Amino acid sequence: MSIAKAGCNIGTPSPEKFAEWCRWKLGDRIADDYMIPYNEKMFSKYLYTLGTYWLDKLPDVSFSDTIRSCLERVPHAKQPGHANFYYPKKFGYGELWKRTGEALGDKLVLSKKVNALDLNNHKIRTTNGDTYEGDIIVTTVPWKSYDEILGLSDDVLRSIQELKHTSIYVEYVPERYENEAQWVYYPQYEISFHRILARENFCENSKGYWTETNADRFNTNTSNKNFFNEYAYPVNTTGKPEIMSKLLRECERHDVYGLGRWGEHMHYNSDIVVDKAVALCEEMM
Ligand SMILES: Cc1cc2nc3c(=O)[nH]c(=O)nc-3n(C[C@H](O)[C@H](O)[C@H](O)COP(=O)(O)OP(=O)(O)OC[C@H]3O[C@@H](n4cnc5c(N)ncnc54)[C@H](O)[C@@H]3O)c2cc1C
Repeated sequence: MSIAKAGCNIGTPSPEKFAEWCRWKLGDRIADDYMIPYNEKMFSKYLYTLGTYWLDKLPDVSFSDTIRSCLERVPHAKQPGHANFYYPKKFGYGELWKRTGEALGDKLVLSKKVNALDLNNHKIRTTNGDTYEGDIIVTTVPWKSYDEILGLSDDVLRSIQELKHTSIYVEYVPERYENEAQWVYYPQYEISFHRILARENFCENSKGYWTETNADRFNTNTSNKNFFNEYAYPVNTTGKPEIMSKLLRECERHDVYGLGRWGEHMHYNSDIVVDKAVALCEEMM
């Protein structure tokens, strides 16, 4: 690691672009060997549009914390990794949705795609022409994927088109992954995927592993066991907080709330979106 370089940057202002921040904060060696290539694989063409405002999601780890953590194999930092988790202790994560679905009963409507939102009349429309009306609407649909949104100012409506996301392919490999790690991250450009989830190493009765590849790098001709996820990661571009803040403010005036990963266009984990959903419900009651 380039200690001198990382040390020299202490006291200089933190860059506003993520790619520059990697070099400023972590030094040339970590930037060139890992952070830039890994993130270029993950974010593809958007890497250089990323801001740094979202880094508070990451633990605040100093250089000495990092060395101590490596030597002692114990996390040392203000917030080592995700400080708190809210996942169910038993049954797995899907249980949450199973029970929520049961509680909703026939109020739960599945397998319909919403393509229009009317803020003035509190209505949504699905692709087969059905409409639903409510005093309050909470939307978790990616904003860019609506065909029509009525009731927003032209300025905000236009800005939605500037929101960026990445798409991924997830591929299943039935063979055992010869490593005890659960997630493995690959910065090497010659390997198309950027990470592996080795479920077999932490989930009872699982077999094999999954690779995750940015759609721009995935070769569909060489794979037939894959899942395409168009809306995988919201991209934290430099202008995004202003776009989302104006959009959500306008919506709230109509009792329409954008919530979660796509409703807020935020890189949330699943436990956080549940926490936010509970908080919004409590606020409304
Ligand atoms: C590859 C990958 C790995 C991840 N790994 C983890 C992890 O290990 N741990 C973790 O905590 N989180 C992980 N996450 C994040 C987690 O998936 C999200 O935080 C969580 O799913 C967000 O929940 P949400 O309800 O906000 O959005 P979503 O789960 O995206 O829910 C939105 C729902 O709206 C539906 N929808 C979208 N458009 C329409 C439409 N037009 N009409 C009707 N319905 C629509 C979607 O089908 C979806 O069901 C991962 C995400 C990805 C992509």
